[in-house]
Amino acid sequence: MSDVANAPAAVPGPVPGMRRPPGRLWSMEVVGARDLNPRMRRVTLTGPDLHELEYKPGQDLVLQMPLADGTTGRRHYTIRSLDKKTGRLDIDFVLHGDSPSGNWARDAKPGTRIEANGPRGRTVLDPMADWHLFTGDETCIPGILGILETLPSHAHAWAFVEVADASDKQPVNCKARLDFQWLERGGAGGPSDFMLKRVQGFKLPPGTGHAYLIGETSNVRAQRHDLLARGMTKEQISAEGYWRPGRVGGHDHIEERPH
Ligand SMILES: Cc1cc2nc3c(=O)[nH]c(=O)nc-3n(C[C@H](O)[C@H](O)[C@H](O)COP(=O)(O)OP(=O)(O)OC[C@H]3O[C@@H](n4cnc5c(N)ncnc54)[C@H](O)[C@@H]3O)c2cc1C
Repeated sequence: MSDVANAPAAVPGPVPGMRRPPGRLWSMEVVGARDLNPRMRRVTLTGPDLHELEYKPGQDLVLQMPLADGTTGRRHYTIRSLDKKTGRLDIDFVLHGDSPSGNWARDAKPGTRIEANGPRGRTVLDPMADWHLFTGDETCIPGILGILETLPSHAHAWAFVEVADASDKQPVNCKARLDFQWLERGGAGGPSDFMLKRVQGFKLPPGTGHAYLIGETSNVRAQRHDLLARGMTKEQISAEGYWRPGRVGGHDHIEERPH
């Protein structure tokens, strides 16, 4: 199920047709932007009340992205970091082509304004898990790296991140015992069995782990299916489709039983 991305911009208070409140509204202004690499651009924003924004690493904001027709559309973007002292918030945008968010990030300059609702999102750390498995593509780098940075030193984690090539790699900071693999797929991204094969080759460690599966929807669904078939429970898996070909904005809940 996906939500409606190009619905009119959310406003505070109940909105007909929405399943849950949109969350607090944040008015932000760009203070800077820079390319982290050829396909990822970091936009730094500020706002008068960002010091009041409470979020868990991995959660996102729903940006009210300007569209070509003068309206706005909803686009989910992970909070990469927030410095409450300076009131600065970073969002990392994948430049995947000619799209509203990519174009906005390319053009963003000091003074550019945007509004957002949130935070939202359930793909956050399960602190009770004995081990953690993270998988995702470029759109998931902000979430996965953000969570890894907060893992305690006694945690044990594996992270597999699919990228086009070596230029997409970023520094990974983590105190925990971590097996991190950048998986270079080459060629175009999207639906494929590329990450599924890596997950199928992952031997489930002993204990009760938690898997965080995010990225292109059909890939996430296939990985979840595999882990469920190998004995992980639904409660041990957080899965969310971050994008899929042809879908405009939104997100896909992946909770149905495999078939
Ligand atoms: C919870 C959550 C957190 C997210 N966090 C981030 C984040 O931190 N950084 C980030 O870059 N993205 C993130 N995404 C993904 C992002 O919201 C989508 O990629 C979104 O569709 C981008 O909007 P757009 O305006 O660029 O393209 P849209 O207008 O939504 O789509 C235009 C076309 O591009 C295609 N498309 C969309 N995304 C991609 C892609 N990645 N690769 C190839 N084709 C694509 C669509 O299928 C559509 O055909 C997140 C998504 C979710 C649900």
